[in-house]
Amino acid sequence: LFAGPCEFVAGAATESALPPSDIIEIAFAGRSNVGKSSLLNALTGRRSLARTSQTPGRTQQINFFDLGGRMRLVDLPGYGYAKASKAKVGAWQELIRLYLKGRPVLRRVLVLVDSRHGLKETDIEVMTMLDQAAVVYQVVLTKADKVGASALAQVRETVEASLRKRPAAHPDIAVTSSETRHGIESLRAELAALAEA
Ligand code: GDP
Repeated sequence: LFAGPCEFVAGAATESALPPSDIIEIAFAGRSNVGKSSLLNALTGRRSLARTSQTPGRTQQINFFDLGGRMRLVDLPGYGYAKASKAKVGAWQELIRLYLKGRPVLRRVLVLVDSRHGLKETDIEVMTMLDQAAVVYQVVLTKADKVGASALAQVRETVEASLRKRPAAHPDIAVTSSETRHGIESLRAELAALAEA
């Protein structure tokens, strides 16, 4: 699945710009600077698929990428940027709600969480939205190369504990580093399996 071409399909800032809900989708969410662009690039092997952003919180559109006509990767705009205004946060939530509404092809949302920081308030808010929409989500720890083994085990345990109480949370946590490529191949395999299911 990831060996073939990966092409930009659409960037949507409004409901009418969303592509038709016709093939399986996996969405990527996370706080600004969590390493989402880097992870998308590592997974697809395309260096500039999702531009690594210098200005966090700027892009407010959902970007869709097609993988060989069999699956779409959906890059949700980053959230939790410290300087984001209330209006901007509201616009983000509105856009995400429009997307989540009536999206039966959406198989899973990967919620990216920085290994150094663990879950933040904004991550919890997003997970609550996903619980309400009954969309399965899975936490992916990013930048695992930046923490030692014991700190990683600690953050993992803490995240696992808070996921246990959440109805739509997938219990497994993926640990990744786009830098060392740790966990990239197994995440690819997991996503490819979702395309087959
Ligand atoms: P985004 O805002 O979530 O798309 O985050 P980016 O992918 O632009 O990454 C934000 C910053 O973290 C950049 O400086 C990246 O080089 C860095 N980064 C991303 N992933 C990793 C990783 O796995 N390891 C390390 N050490 N740095 C990373």
